Amino acid sequence: MIPLVDLKANIAPLRAELDAAMRQVVDDTAFILGPAVERFEKAFAAYIGVKHCVGVQSGTAALQLAFLARGIGPGDEVITVPSSFFATAEAISLTGARPVFVDVEPDTLNLDVSQLERAITPKTRAIVPVHLFGQSADLAPILEIATRHGLPVFEDACQAHGASYGEKRCGSLGLAGAFSFYPGKNLGAFGEGGAITTDDDELAMKCRRLRDHGSPEKYRHTLVGFNYRLEGLQGAVLSVKLPHLDRWNDARRRLAQRYDEKLKGVGDLQLPTVRAYGRPVFHLYAVQSAARDRVFASFEKAGVARAIHYPIPIHLQEAYAGLGHGRGSFPVSEKAAERLLSLPLFPELTDAQQDVVIDAVRSAFKQ
Ligand SMILES: *Cc1c(COP(=O)(O)O)cnc(C)c1O
Repeated sequence: MIPLVDLKANIAPLRAELDAAMRQVVDDTAFILGPAVERFEKAFAAYIGVKHCVGVQSGTAALQLAFLARGIGPGDEVITVPSSFFATAEAISLTGARPVFVDVEPDTLNLDVSQLERAITPKTRAIVPVHLFGQSADLAPILEIATRHGLPVFEDACQAHGASYGEKRCGSLGLAGAFSFYPGKNLGAFGEGGAITTDDDELAMKCRRLRDHGSPEKYRHTLVGFNYRLEGLQGAVLSVKLPHLDRWNDARRRLAQRYDEKLKGVGDLQLPTVRAYGRPVFHLYAVQSAARDRVFASFEKAGVARAIHYPIPIHLQEAYAGLGHGRGSFPVSEKAAERLLSLPLFPELTDAQQDVVIDAVRSAFKQ
């Protein structure tokens, strides 16, 4: 079986170092925040190229806290895309604000800048582009429109650890970036984890308080907050893994290029489009085809994992029936959801394994 990700293969070469780092946390009984988390926050802030990194409990919590720290709440509108993991819109809703969707480009599936401005209303309080599958959204024109309207941009960088836009890393261009360290992400913890990255002193301070019951010091509470603290064990694991992220992302890019070469012109396959403005990190290698079911039948025979990211666009989720959207509201996202499939791509995927996937795709389009 060729899986979508192979965490055992990812962990094995670092096992001794990871065990030692986790042992240290246990020896120190520094289970919540503490020195391991602080070390990781410093290292990740330097890696992304920002002043502050605030470690939190998940990517969803990172988005939610960044919005709340900016004062977003009931009655506000926040613009994002329907082609993402559900949590992007969910984090907006958790503040009490309303997610407002802008459709995506048919090739990159990132926010379609040409449709952005008409979604802005007097109630709009922020714009949240998603760097889907590890490729940056087109941030320069998004930031230009946002600045003209006096709006902050929050980057959902939960799939874009190490991706760049121009010379800068995703997560360093907007007011803040949100990262997830869910185990299957390009940088994954041994459990839940997330982080907010920002250059803004005030936003960072508020996020730090909000993650810890609104508390600047023990038993003093200046805000009603949350228990969204990052665990010491996760900080330790992430610190061991971070120095390997660039190498892992290089391996992903090499494999993506290999898929590009070997699948070009096969059937009706639409391969990922890479924009010249940045460098993606291929969290996923998602292709589109009208014959998705045939490809999956071929995968079944060959023992290749099947995956769709994502089968239902957010605006058509039952949870958002109340927003009043229907089929046809965001046609590009809807069409993509019917055609997308993700091919296995992770740093440890061998060429031999990848060839099995490639052959399975090709055989689906024979005759
Ligand atoms: C994974 C992910 C999230 C949520 O992260 P969690 O850590 O699972 O809460 C949000 N947005 C996107 C685009 C993601 O891929």
